[in-house]
Amino acid sequence: MKSHPLDFFEPFTSELPADKELVNERRQVRNACFSYVEPKTPANPSLIHASPEMMQLLGISNLHDEKRFSDIFSGAVTPEGSKPYAMCYGGHQFGNWAGQLGDGRAINLGKVEGVGGPWTLQLKGAGETPYSRNADGLAVLRSSVREYLCSEAMHHLGVPTTRALSLMLSGDSVLRDILYNGNPAYEKGAIVCRVAPSFIRFGNFEILAAQKDITTLRALVDYTIRHHFSHLVAPNKAAYLAFFKEVSLRSMEMVVHWQRVGFVHGVMNTDNMSILGLTIDYGPYGWLEGYDPEWTPNTTDSAHKRYRYGTQPELVLWNLVQLANALYPLIEAVEPLQDILDEYRKQVGVAQLDMMRSKLGLFEAKPEDEELVTTLETALQATETDMTLFYRTLSQFDPDSPEMGIALVGEAFYSPGEVKGAVADTWNSWFALYAQRLRKELATKEKRTEHMNAVNPKYVLRNYMAQMAIDAAEEGDYDVMKELFTMLKKPYDEQPSFQKWFAKRPEWARNKVGCSMLSCSS
Ligand code: AMP
Ligand code: MG
Repeated sequence: MKSHPLDFFEPFTSELPADKELVNERRQVRNACFSYVEPKTPANPSLIHASPEMMQLLGISNLHDEKRFSDIFSGAVTPEGSKPYAMCYGGHQFGNWAGQLGDGRAINLGKVEGVGGPWTLQLKGAGETPYSRNADGLAVLRSSVREYLCSEAMHHLGVPTTRALSLMLSGDSVLRDILYNGNPAYEKGAIVCRVAPSFIRFGNFEILAAQKDITTLRALVDYTIRHHFSHLVAPNKAAYLAFFKEVSLRSMEMVVHWQRVGFVHGVMNTDNMSILGLTIDYGPYGWLEGYDPEWTPNTTDSAHKRYRYGTQPELVLWNLVQLANALYPLIEAVEPLQDILDEYRKQVGVAQLDMMRSKLGLFEAKPEDEELVTTLETALQATETDMTLFYRTLSQFDPDSPEMGIALVGEAFYSPGEVKGAVADTWNSWFALYAQRLRKELATKEKRTEHMNAVNPKYVLRNYMAQMAIDAAEEGDYDVMKELFTMLKKPYDEQPSFQKWFAKRPEWARNKVGCSMLSCSS
């Protein structure tokens, strides 16, 4: 490991108020942004996998001292210079104010200098903190594999996200009731070292506003601007508004990327909204297979489907309203905050249409594009159609032969037998419309194909794939996980050796726990 020990520092703890209490007991914390806490000593830590890309960014050149690496990134040993801490935040969960939440099972080691700036390292599943409420502060292998694989996959897809350095077994057993139906079982404990410029969430601001602790709220906003929006300079009302505007833009950018690749977060509570517009907290997330705006993988949300695919952009706005409320005491004017929210509402539709143009290989904007997109959405739902396969195969579409469209994307249909009569008519009309539209484009077919294949991934972490990696990992076999990790580094490349993963979800996975049904139990 580079010049070990890694040089840890942490402006978050040196510049913001700490919880005065030092015992590691659950409590309501006030007038503070965090609590100091030591990770739990794991029974028998062992490294499963480390991300070479993250190691490089952090300046960890190799794993020659694997024991030391495992000790640090499992929480067994606190590295020199690190004063581990848990953040205090609150949040709106499923539309309701939930009060104090906080890092209940994430412990931050601090920052290290790396490529692209200082990175905060955080151990998820490293034990209890004052914010653990009625839970154990631990994470299981199942959910840790999902977080580890998906955060790196999202990065390579070009989606803003927190990253992951390592996946570790803790050697402890952890009791979980996966479906909350009275069937608890012991699972292997695991720890992911997550990495991001900052893990500050909307909820960090909300808790202070809820406590009417305006002094600490101002300190946190000033801190965030100073370290993460430093171009905004002086802390004053104008800068606070500019800050809010930028958060709204970054969040918009993030959610439009989600829509582009078919990612459904599953739990878009305000405590899971990064102030940097990063995808954060990979829990019961999932990937659209059959295109369905109504789909959510989260069984905890199955009644209302608040966080279904189709509503994600709107839910970001709802969350931004909560952030606006939290920032209001510093701005003391409703109108400029409302203007920013209105702007989001206007722009998110524009951004989505632009994103859809790129998925369809349209370089120019034409008035008829909106109809082209709406009719496509109807066609995609006429019979179950795999989103990823559809867009990827569409890049070979020939506008001179629209009648070949159905055959071209044929692999994407889950029930090919249904593609007849009205369904076939719907598709054929759409292909005709698309062909007409493409004729107005100047770009060559080659250029269009190249462009489409750079925004429509060939490989995504389908739910059943993650589950296969988990099933093998539970048996101590990490080959599937490693294969997926490697493949997902190049999601837009053809990668013929991984062709078997360019396929529809197999039928056995349709209603299987972990594949189509996920809960928050992790
Ligand atoms: P999540 O749904 O994972 O975003 O978590 C919501 C809140 O519950 C956060 O405050 C988490 O820190 C906390 N939490 C989730 N799982 C655990 C756990 N196993 N132990 C302690 N706190 C947890
Ligand atoms: Mg969370």
